[in-house]
Amino acid sequence: MSKKALIIGTGLGGLATALRLTAHGYKVEMVEKYHQPGGRLNQLKKDGFTFDVGPSFFSMSYEFEELFHYCNIPNPLQLHELNPVYSVYFANRNKPFLIYKDLKKLAGEFKDLEPDFEQKVRNYLSRAKSVFHDTEYRIVKKNFNGLLSYALGLMSVPLKHSPMLFRTMWQELERNFSSQEVKVIFSLVAFFLGSTPFDTPAVYSLLNYTELEHDGYWSVKGGMYRITEALTELLQARGVTMHFNTEIVEAVEKDGKLAGFIDQNGNKWQADVYVSNSDAAFFRGKVLKRAKFSEQKLDAMKWTLAPFTIYLGVKGTIPDLYHHNYFLGNNFKEYADTIFKTSVSPQKPYYYVNVSSKTTPECAPEGCENIFILCPVPDLRFKPDWSDSEQLADNIIADMSARIGFDLQANTISRTIYNPIDWRDKFNLYKGSGLGLAHGLDQVAGLRPNNADENYNNLFYVGASTVPGTGLPIVLISSKLVTERIVGSNTTQAPSSGVNAGQMANLF
Ligand SMILES: Cc1cc2nc3c(=O)[nH]c(=O)nc-3n(C[C@H](O)[C@H](O)[C@H](O)COP(=O)(O)OP(=O)(O)OC[C@H]3O[C@@H](n4cnc5c(N)ncnc54)[C@H](O)[C@@H]3O)c2cc1C
Repeated sequence: MSKKALIIGTGLGGLATALRLTAHGYKVEMVEKYHQPGGRLNQLKKDGFTFDVGPSFFSMSYEFEELFHYCNIPNPLQLHELNPVYSVYFANRNKPFLIYKDLKKLAGEFKDLEPDFEQKVRNYLSRAKSVFHDTEYRIVKKNFNGLLSYALGLMSVPLKHSPMLFRTMWQELERNFSSQEVKVIFSLVAFFLGSTPFDTPAVYSLLNYTELEHDGYWSVKGGMYRITEALTELLQARGVTMHFNTEIVEAVEKDGKLAGFIDQNGNKWQADVYVSNSDAAFFRGKVLKRAKFSEQKLDAMKWTLAPFTIYLGVKGTIPDLYHHNYFLGNNFKEYADTIFKTSVSPQKPYYYVNVSSKTTPECAPEGCENIFILCPVPDLRFKPDWSDSEQLADNIIADMSARIGFDLQANTISRTIYNPIDWRDKFNLYKGSGLGLAHGLDQVAGLRPNNADENYNNLFYVGASTVPGTGLPIVLISSKLVTERIVGSNTTQAPSSGVNAGQMANLF
């Protein structure tokens, strides 16, 4: 008889793990706190507009190909590459910088600011490329069983990269570039990791390689929620049942073994194997009541910034916006140094804007745009009061209107705000942290909450706060690593996917 798996949470990590387990013959059942699947990869439909509520692009697009190949299913997603990769607006400069993968074209953007840019960026990326490929299979796509196995993994990484552990990303950029704008633009990726370029190790310049050279940034035809829809359709066709509005609140133990979970209505859920897609640290504290993950201990860990998101439906089209745009001020260091820990809303906020109606016109009524604004803000440990949400949204919208020369306020048809409290309450994100646990060297790989439970041999974890970390492609890798744990075979090192085997051949 086939084994039964219960997956707690229908985020990308839960959905992808469910699909992989069905490929191994498991019967899968899923429970989800929210009213529809996707977790942070969710959707909001309102006033004739459709919004992706969280992710709007991703790198390492081949990880989606790998997932479907692993499960022997044709890839149902149509991806499109972003070109330009993104645009960056600085305060006091009307024209945005357009960031291209074509380095000659990119050099044109900085010709007045950074002499010999093309050669400099090639040198910078070549070093970042070697870090990426020397760690991908040795550290990132690997399960570790304790500190010794992690230490051995680290020892397999060429020693030449060790200086990059002791320099910051900003220092690495200063060694390569003189222009403040170039340094700021290339350092933005540090914020995805839950830190600033001033305290992120230089090894993470590998993220610049992923965006500018390796695979670029991608989006999905039909909107990002197509990913969730496609996976849900495939799972339903494979007989997977999903129960929404069902939050797991307690574990049941019998004779020292995990015997099931209880939801908020007192219903008991049982299976042979359990996978939690809930935050791997928070779940251990809140549901399993582990002292090592008490609120006090969790608060002492490092978390990524919380999202403050605005979903605007506006009348009119805005020519100067691209799929993926950053709006920055001109006090970068000061902003970066205070943004994580301040208890007040930023007066001159830095924010990210995505207009998916540019590439998916069906997301907005004719002649309109759907605008997603994400302003990273301190999490609820530092700023618990969000009664100023409307004010902060007004401030961002006024700033953006002035910078793009389009009165967003006057043309607004639909407006919705999710502040960090909303993000916490919708998806159980710890203190509203948007990307989960940060990725400092003390919280990655063998030092991140493991994907195999410490006490129960039938409980596993998948998603942003377990290994390897956050972001859509990384969560797909997480689903592969946890499947490897569950089925007991080394699926990552010996992929069934020809795509990965081919890529592996390129890597070494
Ligand atoms: C605003 C925002 C923008 C982002 N943009 C990008 C981007 O552009 N590109 C990118 O690659 N990444 C982006 N990310 C990160 C990305 O969304 C996440 O890394 C990824 O979606 C995490 O997936 P997951 O499966 O780990 O967790 P989640 O998506 O959080 O899924 C976990 C699920 O478990 C459910 N759950 C939790 N606890 C319980 C419980 N006790 N019982 C039942 N159900 C439970 C939750 O409701 C949720 O549905 C963004 C994140 C945010 C917040």
